[in-house]
Amino acid sequence: MKKYSELNREEAAGLLAGLLAEFEEKKAAGLKLDMARGKPNADQLDFSREMLDTLNSESPLISEDGLHCANYMGLDGILEAKRLMALMLGVNAGEVFVGGNSSLNLMHDLMSFCWMFPLPGCEKPWGKQESPKFICPVPGYDRHFAVSGHFGLEMPTVPMTPGGPDMDAVEELVKDPCVKGMWCMPVYSNPQGHSFSSETVDRLAALKPAAPDFRIFCDNSYPVHNLYDDRQAENPRMLEAFGKRGHENNIFIFTSTSKVSFPGAGVAAIGASKENLAYINRHISIQTIGYDKLNQLRHARYFKDLAGIHAHMRKHAEVLRPKFATVLETLERELSPIDLAEWTKPLGGYFISIDVVPGTAKRVVALCKEAGLVMTPAGATHPYGNDPDDKTIRIAPSFPGLDELKAAGEVFCLCVKIAALEHIVG
Ligand code: PMP
Repeated sequence: MKKYSELNREEAAGLLAGLLAEFEEKKAAGLKLDMARGKPNADQLDFSREMLDTLNSESPLISEDGLHCANYMGLDGILEAKRLMALMLGVNAGEVFVGGNSSLNLMHDLMSFCWMFPLPGCEKPWGKQESPKFICPVPGYDRHFAVSGHFGLEMPTVPMTPGGPDMDAVEELVKDPCVKGMWCMPVYSNPQGHSFSSETVDRLAALKPAAPDFRIFCDNSYPVHNLYDDRQAENPRMLEAFGKRGHENNIFIFTSTSKVSFPGAGVAAIGASKENLAYINRHISIQTIGYDKLNQLRHARYFKDLAGIHAHMRKHAEVLRPKFATVLETLERELSPIDLAEWTKPLGGYFISIDVVPGTAKRVVALCKEAGLVMTPAGATHPYGNDPDDKTIRIAPSFPGLDELKAAGEVFCLCVKIAALEHIVG
C-alpha cells in the first residue's frame, strides 16, 4: 500500500472515488456516534454510588477540625477534605483551599480576582494594566482559553511537547512584564495525555517573570487517572519545587474529583502558597459563606487516602483501557500503513490528540458530522478556536460503548483519508 504522501493526483482521485462510495454507505446507515464528550459513562458513575451511603440521617456530621458540616463556617474546607485533595494536588494539607464541585469554576473565579483585585505586592490588578497576556500551550483545553479570552487577556501560544510546554519559548515570553501567567496541565494533559518531565517542572519553578503578579494556572485535573498499573506518570510536587526556588507565589494548582467520583457532584480544590491562600480566602469570602461541606465529608470518608483513591481509579481504568485500545488499534490499522496522521498514545487521562494532514482538520470534522459522528470542533484545541495549521483534533473515547467506538473509529479514519485525498486532488 502506497503512503498517501507518495500518491500523484490521478492515483489520489482514483482512491477518493472508492472511499466516497464507502462514505455514502456510512451516511445511508444513519449512524449516531459521538467522540466529542470527555465524560465518564454511566458504569463509571456507578463506581461511586456507594459514597452516597457514607452519610445518612444518623451519621455524625462533625469534621475532624470540629465543624458541623451542615452549618456555615469553614470557608476553605474541612480538614479531612484538605488532606484528601492535597494528595491529588501534590501539596501539603495546609496548602489547600477546598471549593465546590468544579475546578473550572475556581479557575474562572481566580482569574476574575486577578483581573479585578491586585495580587499581593502590586498596585493594579491585571485588568487595569496595559495589554495583559496569558501564555497558552497548544494544543490545549478549549475551556481554559475560553476563561482567559473572556477577560480579554491576549493569548500568545507556545507549542506543547511530550514533556510539557516548550520552555525556551516560555522563558522568552515571561521577559515581557505584560505576560501575567500561563495555563498548564502537568499530568495527562487535555488533549494529548502528555505529562511534565522533571526538567519542565524545574524550569517552571525557576522562572523569573518580569511581571511581579505572574501566576501559573496549573490545572492538575488528571493526577491519578492512570490507565496502566505498570506505566504511570508521576504527580509532581509543583508547589514544593517552586518553594525551593523562593517562587511559591508564582503558581496556583487546581484539581477536582470530577473524573474520580462525579463530574456533576465532586469536590474541587486549589493548592497555593500562604500568601496566595490569603488572597483567595479574602476574595472568595465575599462571594460565599462556604461550600458544600457534606459533600467534602462524603468524599473524605469514602476515599480515605491515596491507596483508597488508587484502588477506585483502577476500576475506572478497567473501563477506559479497552476504549483507548479500541481507538488506538483502529488508528493504527487504518492510518499507519499509509503513513497518514500522527496521534498520541496516552498512559492516562481522558483524551487522544491526533494531527491529520495540515489544512484538513475542519474538513475531517465536517465529514464526520455528515456521516453521523460528532467530534470536538477542529480548532477547539487553540485560543479563539483557531488552529493555524488546521490539523489537530481531540478524540474522547470515554463515553461511547466499545462497539460504538469501533464504528466511530472507522468512520473517523475514513474521513481523515477522504480529506487527505481531496487535499492532494485539490
Ligand atoms: N480541566 C481539564 C483539563 C478538563 O479536562 C476538565 C474536564 N473536561 C476540567 C478541567 C473541568 O473540571 P471540573 O469538572 O472540575 O470543572
